Amino acid sequence: MKLDGLKFSVIGGGIGGLAAALALQQRGAQVTVLEQASALTEVGAGLQISANGMAVLRALNVVGKVPEAGQISHGTILRDYRKGRIISHLPGPAAGPTYYYHRADLLELLHRAALKAGVEIRLDARVTRVLKHPTEAEVILDSGERLRSECAIAADGGRSAIRPILNGVENPQFTHQIAWRATIPWSQCQDTPRASLTMGPKRHVVTYPLRDQSLMNVVAIEERSDWQEEGWRLQGDPDDLRARFADFGGPVHDILAEVNESHLWALFLRPVAQCWQNGRLALLGDAAHPTLPFMAQGACLALEDVWILIRSFEEQSGVKLALAAYEARRRPRAQQVVAAAGANARNFHLSGPMRLAAQAALMAVGSRLAQRYEWIYSYDATT
Ligand SMILES: Cc1cc2nc3c(=O)[nH]c(=O)nc-3n(C[C@H](O)[C@H](O)[C@H](O)COP(=O)(O)OP(=O)(O)OC[C@H]3O[C@@H](n4cnc5c(N)ncnc54)[C@H](O)[C@@H]3O)c2cc1C
Repeated sequence: MKLDGLKFSVIGGGIGGLAAALALQQRGAQVTVLEQASALTEVGAGLQISANGMAVLRALNVVGKVPEAGQISHGTILRDYRKGRIISHLPGPAAGPTYYYHRADLLELLHRAALKAGVEIRLDARVTRVLKHPTEAEVILDSGERLRSECAIAADGGRSAIRPILNGVENPQFTHQIAWRATIPWSQCQDTPRASLTMGPKRHVVTYPLRDQSLMNVVAIEERSDWQEEGWRLQGDPDDLRARFADFGGPVHDILAEVNESHLWALFLRPVAQCWQNGRLALLGDAAHPTLPFMAQGACLALEDVWILIRSFEEQSGVKLALAAYEARRRPRAQQVVAAAGANARNFHLSGPMRLAAQAALMAVGSRLAQRYEWIYSYDATT
């Protein structure tokens, strides 16, 4: 079907929402993004976008062949936690390079491209409900304002207020994993300019360069049972971070010594949604398939969703058929990737004999390990 002049409401101005708005507007639709925050900002720091996500960013003309603002990855060094001993070196995927982005930079690229294409972006616009009418979706804001469009796309994140409309209320499960996130100036870093993954019992630390190697992104994950809140912007005490990773030696020890400010993120999880759409309203990104960050695929999946959504519109003869095709194509892929990320949580945090056995295996086959996940990276939604 042609999207010319069709009205869309996109709920959420994150990576998924802005990319969806841009893609729809580029095909002639009239898109309004409704974002609850008063500015489009991203807390946290880095984001790895692998070849499957980069393919969509390129197809949307958000980045060129040599992506601006992103830093190319040269693979990942795997280290043991105690002295930082190198266990193996994982080359990048054969499908194409991964790029490291500062989240704010990627959001800014999408924001600029969306505005240039003519997307209307409304801030301080929190959506509370979406009603389905025979030929329209009606979005209701907490101000009481109502907006009608042919279709509404809910890209309102892992704590989506819209998902319960399609799936009922679901209680999120605390995964017992906490992510600490920080950036430090690169000049203070002792490590090589590559990504590194340092694994210890019940904890791991990922570091990689950002912004032309002027910053280092630090994500430290620990297993913990004492957590109640599901939230994004919790301030973490850097001394507490250092104490919790005190037995990590080598480069990680030096890196954590430089952290002056950190945020804490408790990882709660809902399953991949049972129902993604009702013929007028569809979920996209984390709202449909929240994932643990252990494959670095959440944003990449959201970008894949975007391309399959627009392709479904192009191929089907009506909104209802397009949303059904989108759901049918996307759910199996999202389930597979989400499951792979969940399995990695266990692999990264082994202790005792299991850890030693895993390290021996990594030393033997480490360079071939990346091939195991080639099915994730080589998927190109745009072809
Ligand atoms: C520690 C960590 C590291 C990660 N690293 C990577 C990585 O390296 N690579 C990768 O691909 N992914 C990574 N991810 C996952 C990635 O961050 C998410 O999957 C991605 O941001 C999801 O995008 P989204 O647009 O679906 O949702 P979000 O980015 O959560 O955006 C949702 C937007 O909707 C708005 N909103 C919410 N409710 C409403 C409402 N009712 N009305 C209006 N607006 C609303 C919010 O304010 C927000 O702007 C990581 C996640 C974590 C926790």
